[in-house]
Amino acid sequence: MKYVSTRGRAPVLGFGDVLLAGLATDGGLYVPEAWPALGVDDLSSWADRPYQDIAVDVMAPFVEGDVEPDELAELVARAYDSFDHPDVTPLRDLGDGLWLLELFHGPTLAFKDVALQLVGPLFERELARRDERITIIGATSGDTGSAAIEATKDRDGIEIVMLHPHGRVSETQRLQMTTVDSANVHNLAVEGTFDDCQDLVKAMFADEALRDDLHLSAVNSMNWARLMAQVVYYVYAGSRLLAPAVPAVSFSVPSGNFGNIFSGWVARRMGVPIAQLICASNRNDILTRFFSTGVLELGEVVATISPSMDIQVSSNLERLLFELYGRDAEATTELLHRFRSEGRVQLAETRLAEVDEVFDAGEVDDDRTRAAIADWRDRAGIVVDPHTAVGLVVGEAQRRSRDLPLVCLATAHPAKFADAVEAATGEIVELPPRLAGLKGLPERFEVVPNDLDAVRARVRAVTS
Ligand SMILES: *Cc1c(COP(=O)(O)O)cnc(C)c1O
Repeated sequence: MKYVSTRGRAPVLGFGDVLLAGLATDGGLYVPEAWPALGVDDLSSWADRPYQDIAVDVMAPFVEGDVEPDELAELVARAYDSFDHPDVTPLRDLGDGLWLLELFHGPTLAFKDVALQLVGPLFERELARRDERITIIGATSGDTGSAAIEATKDRDGIEIVMLHPHGRVSETQRLQMTTVDSANVHNLAVEGTFDDCQDLVKAMFADEALRDDLHLSAVNSMNWARLMAQVVYYVYAGSRLLAPAVPAVSFSVPSGNFGNIFSGWVARRMGVPIAQLICASNRNDILTRFFSTGVLELGEVVATISPSMDIQVSSNLERLLFELYGRDAEATTELLHRFRSEGRVQLAETRLAEVDEVFDAGEVDDDRTRAAIADWRDRAGIVVDPHTAVGLVVGEAQRRSRDLPLVCLATAHPAKFADAVEAATGEIVELPPRLAGLKGLPERFEVVPNDLDAVRARVRAVTS
C-alpha cells in the first residue's frame, strides 16, 4: 500500500515510512492511495471471530508490502494481551437498541490504548529493521501522556520524554505516568502550564541540531497507523450486531481531534454498512457547527469536564475534507490556507452532500453531561465517564432510526475522570485494580523550570 499526502506535495511513501514520519513534509496528512474493500459480503459471518483475527484482516491491506500477515498477527496478539477483557472492546447492551462499545480496557483505561498498544510494537519493529533509534517528545495535560508511555516503555530503539505541568495534573494522571519503572521513560514536570509544555516541545522540534541528534519523533493522533488500528472496532461491532433483520448500524462518537470518528468513516468506506456517524462535542463545538452549516470557524477553547475533547482545531478533519474535495490536494490546501489566514471557511454546497448522507452532530454543556451521568446511573445502573456521556446524549438526540442499533463509543473508564463522575452521581467511583495499585508505588519524575535551555539540557542528559 502506498500513501499520499492530503496536500499533494510530499513524496508517496509506504506504510513503514508513513509510520515513522507522522506528518507529511508538505504539512499534510498521509492517507492510503486507495481505500481497500473489506472482502466479506456479509459481515455477520464474522460474528464468532475473535477481535484479533478481525484486526489482522482489516489492517493487512494497509500494511501490505511492509508487514506480512503472520507477523501482523503476532504484533496484534501481543498488543491486545495487555487488555483486561477477552473481547478487547466488548459491547454492552443498554436496551432499546442502544449499545456501549467499551474502548477502555487497555492499560491506561482510555480508548487511545487501542491504537497505541499496537503502534508501539510497530515502531519498535520498523526501527529494528532500519537499525535506527528515536526520541519521542510530547506534552500532556494528563490524559494522553500515560497512553504514549505505556505504548513505548521498554521498547528497543525508543526513548520517550513526556512533559507535564508540575502540580497541574490529577494524582491519578501523574501516577499513571511516573510509576512506570522503565529505563527509556523520562517524565519532566515543568514549572508552568500545559501551554508552556507544548511551547517547549514545539521549540525543541524547531531546534534542528536537537532534532537531528536525538531523531525527535511524535506519536500524535495525526499518525495514520493510529487511525488504521481504530477502524477495527467499528468492523468488530458491525460483525456482532448486523443480522438479516439488521442491515446497518450507527455510531455516536465523542470527538475532539476527529481521529476516532474518521476511523468510522474509513470502516464505512471499506464496506461496513454504517447508517449514521454522529459526531458528539462538548462546548468546544467547531465540529458541530461545521456539520450543521458547512462553515468551519475557529472559536475560543473552553475548559470542560470532558477535557480530552477541549479542542478547536480538529487536525484529522483534513482527511475528510480531502475526500469531500474528490482527493483534490490543491483544493484542500487552498481551503486550509484560507482557514488558517481568515479563521473561517465555507464548504461549497455540492461538497456537503456526502456529509449530510452519513454525518450528524451535536454539542452538550457540562450541566447536561452531569445530568446524563446521573440519569444513566439511575436508569440502567451503569456509570459512564463524561466523554461517553456526551456521546450518549448527542447519540440519542440525533438517532435517525430506532430500528437500527446505535453504538455509543465509551472512550474512557469512569474512574479516569472520577471527580466529575462523583460530582454528578454523589457516589464514590471505585478504582479498578490497574489504578488502585498505583498508590504508594515509587515515582520517577524530575521537576524542571519553564525554560527552554534548561529543559533542552535535561532532555539531552536523560536520553544520552
Ligand atoms: C482523545 C479522546 C477523545 C477524542 O478523540 P478524537 O480521536 O481526538 O476525536 C474522546 N474521549 C477521550 C476519553 C479521549 O481520550
